[in-house]
Amino acid sequence: MESSFEGLERQRAKRRRVARMKKFIVTTVLVFMLLTISVMSFLLFEVFSLQRQLDSLAKQVYVTTDVENESEMVDDSILDDVYQVDNVDNIAEEGDIPMVYLTFDDGPSSNTDEILDILDDYNVKATFFVCGKDLELYGEQYKRIVDEGHTIGMHSYSHNFGEIYASEDAFAQDYNKIHNLILETTGVDTKYYRFPGGSSNKVSTTSMSTFINYLNNQGVVYYDWNVASGDATSSAFTTEQLIDNVMKDVVKYKTSVVLLHDASNKNATVEALPGLIESLQEQGAMILPITDETTVIQHVNVVQ
Ligand SMILES: [Zn+2]
Repeated sequence: MESSFEGLERQRAKRRRVARMKKFIVTTVLVFMLLTISVMSFLLFEVFSLQRQLDSLAKQVYVTTDVENESEMVDDSILDDVYQVDNVDNIAEEGDIPMVYLTFDDGPSSNTDEILDILDDYNVKATFFVCGKDLELYGEQYKRIVDEGHTIGMHSYSHNFGEIYASEDAFAQDYNKIHNLILETTGVDTKYYRFPGGSSNKVSTTSMSTFINYLNNQGVVYYDWNVASGDATSSAFTTEQLIDNVMKDVVKYKTSVVLLHDASNKNATVEALPGLIESLQEQGAMILPITDETTVIQHVNVVQ
């Protein structure tokens, strides 16, 4: 017969087993939870650090490929205000012949020859604000622009906002590079400049007046634009839309400086150009290259 002592011992042993098992289960669950938390923390950390890397990469891409995205940095509604306030003299009146200056930024590129061919077909002269490109590839295009009677102007050598707008020195260095490149390839001592992003760009952390003063000291005039074709935006306009964008604004002004691009990825601009020239000519517009007589179109005149 089992003594009550033995029964008690068995019960205690059983309780101990249950307690061990509980401890084992609790430990297992705790270890599992800790592992899960560690893995989650690690993954969260990775996500954040990847996000940071992505952000900094995106910034670099924004700075170096602004050739494609230039007008995204320019708020059109602000520009319109500037014109209405600053350029009242430039508002078209009944009977005015629209003076239209087609300007091509960011070239030369693989599209420049075709644009020059089209301009030649219509016997139209334009203005090219060029950047610094490989002379082995595009040396001929700089020459062609000048030889065929177009105006050549500067649009910075590097077109890298972060570089050229870093300081007056950096701007001056870049200015000298593009000025000398044009002088050496074409013989033209150009006095026209277009700021990458325009003088109203919101990218430069240095006041644009620093660079405007610099250009003034060189005797150089900068030209912005008052009509944008929209070919710089990321939205893919059809050729008809590009033409409409220009035509709806050209009627507003006596002098229209039209922003176009002859970068290698601007095929729509090339396709739109013949139709644009025809529409302008039907409108009775005079299409001219920028000269010293051209009404100066500037976004912000910040020089005090
Ligand atoms: Zn540009």
